[in-house]
Amino acid sequence: MDDLTDDWSGGVAELCAALIRIDTTNRGPGDAVGERVAAEVVAAMLGDEVGVEPAVLESAPRRTNVVARIPGQDPSLGALLVHGHLDVVPAAAADWSVPPFAGEIRDGYVWGRGAVDMKDMCACVLSVVGSWRRRGVAPRRDIVLAFVADEETGGDLGAKWLVEKHPELFDGCAAAIGESGGFSVTVDGVRLYPIGSAERGTMHMRLRATGRAGHASRPNPDNAVVTLVSALARVAAHRWPVQLTPTVREFLTRAGAALDVPVDLDTDDGVDATVARLGRIGVLAAATVRNSTTLTGLTAGSAVNVIPSVAEALLDTRVLPGAPDEVLATVDELLGPGVTRTFITRGDPVQSPFDSEWFDAMTAALLAEDPDAVVLPYCLGGGTDAKAFTALGIPTYGFGPLRLPADPAVYDHRAMAHGVDERVPVDALRFGARVLDHFLRTV
Ligand SMILES: [Zn+2]
Repeated sequence: MDDLTDDWSGGVAELCAALIRIDTTNRGPGDAVGERVAAEVVAAMLGDEVGVEPAVLESAPRRTNVVARIPGQDPSLGALLVHGHLDVVPAAAADWSVPPFAGEIRDGYVWGRGAVDMKDMCACVLSVVGSWRRRGVAPRRDIVLAFVADEETGGDLGAKWLVEKHPELFDGCAAAIGESGGFSVTVDGVRLYPIGSAERGTMHMRLRATGRAGHASRPNPDNAVVTLVSALARVAAHRWPVQLTPTVREFLTRAGAALDVPVDLDTDDGVDATVARLGRIGVLAAATVRNSTTLTGLTAGSAVNVIPSVAEALLDTRVLPGAPDEVLATVDELLGPGVTRTFITRGDPVQSPFDSEWFDAMTAALLAEDPDAVVLPYCLGGGTDAKAFTALGIPTYGFGPLRLPADPAVYDHRAMAHGVDERVPVDALRFGARVLDHFLRTV
């Protein structure tokens, strides 16, 4: 029998702290501590407490992924994939008020690198599935768990590698949940819970102009630096028009209704004004009402009196679902002749249906623990491993539920991921574990 009075979620904070104490810093290819120790701890727990035999897969030395399947009661139902990354971004200890890898629990918070990105959700998931056997619980459908490496530098050794080399591990998965979504944002006393149902795509590009090299005292009309900066000026001056995807339109509409804020989605100015009126929740949509092109790097020349033959720049481009082709056409037009572009990385946008049984089940799980919750779909401005799993045709959602303090002066969740003094409230973790338990058992 499922004993709901059992205080099984009590250990989630200690588990989160234990994961934080395992340093899994990922500075990029060739400069990562590696996820192996964390992966071994997770695999041992899945074996000992869940009773499954996880696959432990290394894409490179110490870059370790763990995948396991918990059988459900009804094999005719598609499986649900739950994915979380074990790596974290670097932390400069001198800036912190606690050692970032000490995993301290104090003042009602778990402190340390990864506390919200995303050892919190990993701990919630592990505490849920780790409690099921002793509570006599079996989920309705198969639950596939993937604890992966390398999300923070793009997933080449984690989610992307698994999808490419071991797609059979995800056979029969009908939907997926992962990070970024399900946390509360309180505005005027209303608790809104955005669930990720879309992501902008990421196109990182290198731009390159070539020209005629020579002595700078003899100017020539084919100067690579001039060609490049002229193109960059056009890119920088371009204002992308508003383009409302279904998720963003629904987000703005539901948030406006819940907060009694006027919503005008008919013009670009109307949309921008609506986003501004929505305050703290509007911030989540600000980067997702249009595509964006951001110049982030520039290299050319070695001496002041030498015209170089090559000039290069870096361009971070984010594209809305459905928009990649037209965005690329516009970028090419802005760059003009003489500047070529190559992709450094390319991840397609994500668009999953929010009028779906999955979204309804996540909503129901939140409402079961917070009857006042206002749930709405949202689009991430950046990207997660969802992009990799979407490539398998699996609809993906950002759902790592947390009920957070209302006042950002007390706790500013947005400043936490990749920030200094990253921490998560213990109460929020326990709430997250209970919501995930409800969802994973009943979905
Ligand atoms: Zn993350």
